[in-house]
Amino acid sequence: MAKLIRCKFCKNFPYIFLKEYRLYLCKEHFISWIENYVYEAIKEYKMFSHKDKILVCVSGGKDSIALVSILNSLGYKIYPFFIDLGIKNFSKTSLKVVYKVCQILNLPLYIYDIKGCLSYSIKEISKALKRSEFCSICGTLKRYIMEIAARYFKVDVIATGHNLNDETENLFLNVLNWKITYLARQGPVLKEEKGFKKKVKPLFKLREKYLYFYVKAKNLPFVEEKCPYSKGATRYIYRKVLNFLEENMPGCLLRFYLEFLRKAKPIFEKALDQESQKLHPCPKCFYPTSRKDKCLVCSYLEKTQKRFKN
Ligand code: SF4
Ligand code: ZN
Ligand code: ZN
Repeated sequence: MAKLIRCKFCKNFPYIFLKEYRLYLCKEHFISWIENYVYEAIKEYKMFSHKDKILVCVSGGKDSIALVSILNSLGYKIYPFFIDLGIKNFSKTSLKVVYKVCQILNLPLYIYDIKGCLSYSIKEISKALKRSEFCSICGTLKRYIMEIAARYFKVDVIATGHNLNDETENLFLNVLNWKITYLARQGPVLKEEKGFKKKVKPLFKLREKYLYFYVKAKNLPFVEEKCPYSKGATRYIYRKVLNFLEENMPGCLLRFYLEFLRKAKPIFEKALDQESQKLHPCPKCFYPTSRKDKCLVCSYLEKTQKRFKN
């Protein structure tokens, strides 16, 4: 008679099979396995301690929802932070979801509205700059706002929900194009330096599939629709290739990434050290910048202001 498969830690039926770890787990043990796994990564990579204040960037997608829930379960001091990008229905739906999750977890929610605070929406800024790469402007503004918020709340560290798929996809892309600066800076921890806060990615060892099942197991809502500006074909190809590799060689993505951190990253870091950029505070907003005059965001805003005056 065929043997019934059970959870590794109890007699319940499995909720999930973690292929690369050869583990069958019931819902309850899967939740505690994920939380413990993240806890171990936080400790191993010295991301933060229970004394630290952590700004957690929550977009509403499964990864950031998982992050806020895991850190909350682990008892860390977290400040969930949502940036309202003003992207029509997408931003509205995302805010509703994040708000609901914070209610369920009994956490406060801090919101930053781009248009309300910078006077212009991303769309207006990209129009004024006559630039079509919406994502690059959005990314610059998000990084800027995270830093400003981290200083405002006097937190010790900024945490984001990047998962193993995001990280290996970026690594693959940076290797294919030999982007030395990015390779030197890629990793789960970016130390506090030159006026920038420390940044960490506590979920970097977990596949996105497991985060999806974690959020489902916890019965938490999340935004399933993609941002209407999300990157198209090229990223999709990288993702497809990496998923194919992982399905056929379970565990290869994690190995690829961990070996990069151990063997290759130090070499790129050395190379970057030699051409290290000098940063100084922006004269308008005090954000660290390598530009001769004001920082990139202040120059975006100045150009936009001029454009709207005329
Ligand atoms: Fe911003 Fe682009 Fe991400 Fe949408 S897909 S949130 S526009 S960076
Ligand atoms: Zn179990
Ligand atoms: Zn500035």
